[in-house]
Amino acid sequence: MRRVSIFGATGSIGQNTIDLIKRAPDEYDVVALSGARNIAQLAKDARDLRANVAVTADPTLLPDLRAALAGSDIEAAAGPEALLEAASRPADWVMSAIVGSAGLAPGLKALEQGASLALANKESMVCAGALVQATARLNKARVLPVDSEHSAVFQGLIGEDIAAVERIIITASGGAFRDWPMEKLAGATPAQAATHPNWDMGQRITIDSASMFNKALEVIETREFFEVDPNIIEVLVHPQSMIHALVGYNDGALMAHVGPPDMRHAIGFALHWPERRKLPVERLDLAALSQLTFRDPDETRWPALRLAREVMAAGGHTGAVFNAAKERALDHFIDGTIGFMQMAEVVEEVLNQLSAQSSLTNAEMTLDSVLAMDHLARITADAIIEKT
Ligand code: NDP
Repeated sequence: MRRVSIFGATGSIGQNTIDLIKRAPDEYDVVALSGARNIAQLAKDARDLRANVAVTADPTLLPDLRAALAGSDIEAAAGPEALLEAASRPADWVMSAIVGSAGLAPGLKALEQGASLALANKESMVCAGALVQATARLNKARVLPVDSEHSAVFQGLIGEDIAAVERIIITASGGAFRDWPMEKLAGATPAQAATHPNWDMGQRITIDSASMFNKALEVIETREFFEVDPNIIEVLVHPQSMIHALVGYNDGALMAHVGPPDMRHAIGFALHWPERRKLPVERLDLAALSQLTFRDPDETRWPALRLAREVMAAGGHTGAVFNAAKERALDHFIDGTIGFMQMAEVVEEVLNQLSAQSSLTNAEMTLDSVLAMDHLARITADAIIEKT
């Protein structure tokens, strides 16, 4: 039996992972499941999958979790330390699907104990790609991509030499406001931004898709994951979300990964890697689709893409600043304090204000240095928003 843990089990990626695991329960020994506020779901899945431990990130909800698990022999635990303890329990495969930079520390802990880390939490690579890669190498652990674009690139590289890669193209649906007139964007509401034309995802990533902050994070993730020159990474708007990424080789070949917009493909690929196994995803009928369209992204509409290039050029801890400023800007957009287009303005201002910090690019990267930079960027973002 394979020992598996799922961090962020109650979220969109976590639930898709559980869907796959529940289809073959005899193959898996579930070590840990984590959630935050959705205690009922966490307890239900922990019971269904006979997990050893269920952890909520929110310590105030520990009594609720204990009550929901009463009568079972599943341990209940809460808080960031409990998450780390659960992540340090031996497991063969760990899903990292907590949203935001909160996912970084448990993912590193899982790598330290040698688990294969299925990485949905793109923020880990954006904030601390070098640290994640170094931790994996040191512990002979494997990081497997779960973001659909990165899974597509990973699959497009199988059997190939990365030195022969000239281009990596990741596609973007364009999100909720792809075809909105520019002048309407300033007044876009969180509810409007949280609807996605193709993918069914968590609220935060769906809004990030509308602003293209999600794609900006993915561009940086591509750089960090495949350790390639940022200049070979391109973004292409592809409204149908059927081609997830293309890898271009030095002989002119472009290898495209085509599949339905269902995260269970990328999750299942990471779960069964290096094998391929049958997955419960739709089989595409390309004739019925009839056309796939593409266009270059407009960086006036989506300034996050320009910022991503600046972040990659600066390097070091700039990714951690970018992500944390984006997380705070998103919080404030969701609570109605700032408008949709102001999110990018806030993030750019935080990057500008912190660009003089020598530790931004010079300091050695450790978990503490990343978390310190994350904290500084959050307070800087809050101060900027306070003044607006
Ligand atoms: P969701 O918001 O649906 O789920 C997030 C999960 O994290 C939930 O289990 C939530 O618990 C938990 N959580 C929230 N805050 C904290 C915290 N501070 N500490 C610990 N746990 C917390 O997100 P998604 O599943 O959409 O996304 C998860 C990650 O995967 C993100 O990094 C996202 O960018 C990435 N991703 C998602 C894709 C998708 O299709 N959804 C595609 C590719 C990547 P609870 O719900 O109980 O409060």
